[in-house]
Amino acid sequence: MIQRGFASAVLAPTDPKLIRNIAIIAHVDHGKTTLMDRLLTFCGATLSEDRVMDSNQFERERGITIASKYTSFQFKGHTFNAVDTPGHADFGGEVERVLGMVDGAVLLVDANEGPLSQTKFVVEKALKRGLKPLVVLNKVDRLGATEQRCGEVESSVFDVFANLGASDDQLDFPVLYASAREGWASASLPPPGQPPPDASMAPLLEALVKYVPPPPSESLQDPFSFLVVMTERHAFLGRIATGRVHSGSVAVGDRIKVLWKDGGQEEGFKVTKLMKRCGMTTVDVERAVAGDIVSIAGIPAAGIADTVAALEVRQALPPGKIDPPTLSMV
Ligand code: GDP
Repeated sequence: MIQRGFASAVLAPTDPKLIRNIAIIAHVDHGKTTLMDRLLTFCGATLSEDRVMDSNQFERERGITIASKYTSFQFKGHTFNAVDTPGHADFGGEVERVLGMVDGAVLLVDANEGPLSQTKFVVEKALKRGLKPLVVLNKVDRLGATEQRCGEVESSVFDVFANLGASDDQLDFPVLYASAREGWASASLPPPGQPPPDASMAPLLEALVKYVPPPPSESLQDPFSFLVVMTERHAFLGRIATGRVHSGSVAVGDRIKVLWKDGGQEEGFKVTKLMKRCGMTTVDVERAVAGDIVSIAGIPAAGIADTVAALEVRQALPPGKIDPPTLSMV
C-alpha cells in the first residue's frame, strides 16, 4: 500500500533538526514489540487517510512484523525513525550497522525482571557507539513493580552501564516508567496498579525530542552518500535498500552509483522510488536529506554495507560508518 501527499511531506522533512533517529533495545520479552505497536498509533495519526486504523486485525499483525525492522512516525512536528535492534550476537555486524543509523536509544527493561543478558549485549554496543540511552522501566502496571523494586532495577541498570565503561554523561540517564501494554509512559512512577492521569505515550516522545540529538546539519551541503543497512525484495520494485543518508540529499530520478564494501564500483543506476515505512504502510517520498532513514528502489547491485552515492563520490563509506552523535546536546 503506497501513500502520497500530506504524509510524504511530514515524514521526510527537509530540515535535519526535525529528525530523531532512535533504536529500541531490550532483552527478549521485555516489551519491544508492544512498545513499537503503541508508537504505530502515532504513525496512524501521521497519515492523511487512516488506513492503518482501518485495516483489520490480521493486516495489523502482519504490519507489525514488517515494521519491527523500522518505522517512521510524526510527533509534534518531528519525524521519528525508530529501528528495531537484534538482541544477540548471532546478528554479528548488523547490530553495529543498525546502531550506526541512530542518534539515540530507548533501553526498555522489565521493571520486574531487571536487566538480563541481551540487555547487556546491546547496551555495550550502544555505549561504544557513543549513544546515551534513555531508560524505560516497562510493565510497571504489574503489582510487583513497586517504588522499591523500580529503585533496585534502576541501580542494576546503572551498574550494568558502569561495568561496561559508560561515560559520566551516559551514566546520567533519564528514567521513565511505562506500561507499553496499556499504552502510556510517565516521568514519575504512579501508585501500583494505577495508570497516571492523561495516560499516553506522549511523555516518552517528548523526552526523546529533548534528549536525542538531531542528526548533524553540516553534511547537507556535501554530495549524496548512503550506507545500506538492510535489503529486501519487492515483487515489482526489485531490491529495496534501506539505510541512513549520511550526506547531501537524494531525490527520485537522481543518477547514482554503488561503491561496494570490498572495493570497486558500478554506475548507471537511477532512483526509481524513495519510500518510508510507516507501520505496515509504505509511503512514497520525493526527497530525503542527510540524517534521514529511507528506503531506495532502483539499485539492484547494492547489498548490505555497500555505499550508494552521487556520481562524484569516490570513496565508499566504511561499513561501520557512523555520524558521531552530538554528545553535548542534552
Ligand atoms: P519483546 O519480545 O520485547 O518484543 O516483548 P513483547 O512486546 O512481545 O512482550 C512480551 C510479553 O510481555 C507479552 O505477553 C506482552 O503482552 C507483555 N507485555 C509487554 N508490555 C507489557 C506491559 O507494559 N505490562 C504488562 N503487564 N505486560 C506487558
